[in-house]
Amino acid sequence: MSERQHYLDLVETLNKHSYQYYVLDDPLISDPQYDVMYQELLTLEAEHPDWVVKESPSQRVGDQPLTEFKTVRHALAMYSLDNAFNDEDLAAFLKRIQEKEPGLAEIDFSAEPKMDGLAINIRYENGELVQATTRGDGQVGEDVTHNVRTIQAIPLKLFGQAWPEVVEVRGEVFMSKPAFEKLNAYQQSIDGKVFANPRNAAAGSLRQLDAKIVAKRQLSFYLYGWGEISDDWPVPERYSDMIEQLVAWGLPSNPNSEVVRNLDGMLGYYEKILGLRDELPYEIDGIVYKVNRIALQAHLGFTARAPRWAIARKFPAQEVWTKLLGIEVQV
Ligand code: NAD
Repeated sequence: MSERQHYLDLVETLNKHSYQYYVLDDPLISDPQYDVMYQELLTLEAEHPDWVVKESPSQRVGDQPLTEFKTVRHALAMYSLDNAFNDEDLAAFLKRIQEKEPGLAEIDFSAEPKMDGLAINIRYENGELVQATTRGDGQVGEDVTHNVRTIQAIPLKLFGQAWPEVVEVRGEVFMSKPAFEKLNAYQQSIDGKVFANPRNAAAGSLRQLDAKIVAKRQLSFYLYGWGEISDDWPVPERYSDMIEQLVAWGLPSNPNSEVVRNLDGMLGYYEKILGLRDELPYEIDGIVYKVNRIALQAHLGFTARAPRWAIARKFPAQEVWTKLLGIEVQV
């Protein structure tokens, strides 16, 4: 087989797995297995830029929305994140930023656990929750408002009184480890679908058509960003200050997030959170670092699928998968 054919086969295989993962919430392979193939794809594309096809997973976010739900076009696109798998990748990320902004000796980053759930956008108008959507393919998501309204951690009305006319809050819906264990025990007792991991359980639950079922599943939420905000609202200079503002309006953010400086700060935070990983009541698969100064974020901009001002430092693979009688289980 030619190398070019191998590349096209990789695109097809990855797209098949993306569909299983994002659309059906039913992955056939583990995330690290997917990541290895995806990195090979990126290497081939870097070596042969003229081979890149528009349906390549490097050119898009997620997969198409499910047709059972009303679809909604996002006011501002929802992106994925580029990955770093080791300290060298992280140093290269920092170097790319410094090259874009020469002379900048100190760069602050918001460092956050990378929650293993799914991204949602929650729209508030005049303080009232009016719509919640999944990320979908980044441009168009699914309307899951009826389900998001059942998540206790998400206020239906913002606290206080001084809000922008429109504010969209973005964050991760996830299922805690205890809620996941309880759900799978119940599913087994009724011969129902057993979920591969909390991420798939959260995604499968949020995309239930019956909100009464969702309400029983104990989903949680942490915010980590925002979408559209009315033009007349003065967004602060730093990302971390805006997150504090959203917290003041009643939305929860991860208490383990911190602002860190330069590579040393990033590496120290990584070790700290890796050490805490097993005792956290929810699953994380890495750390996300985001440039804290919003003007610098704007200067760096986006690629087709991810911001240039943020990176996900993935943890080494932890899970071992097996597939038994068509039921995926994590052991
Ligand atoms: P991603 O999960 O690697 O990173 C982007 C997402 O991170 C965001 O959309 C958001 O939902 C989440 N996130 C969590 N905490 C965050 C924080 N603090 N700040 C910002 N974002 C945060 O990207 P993706 O495009 O959702 O998924 C790609 C990953 O999905 C791959 O690396 C792979 O592991 C997995 N995948 C697996 C399969 C499979 O078959 N197993 C198929 C497709 C994708």
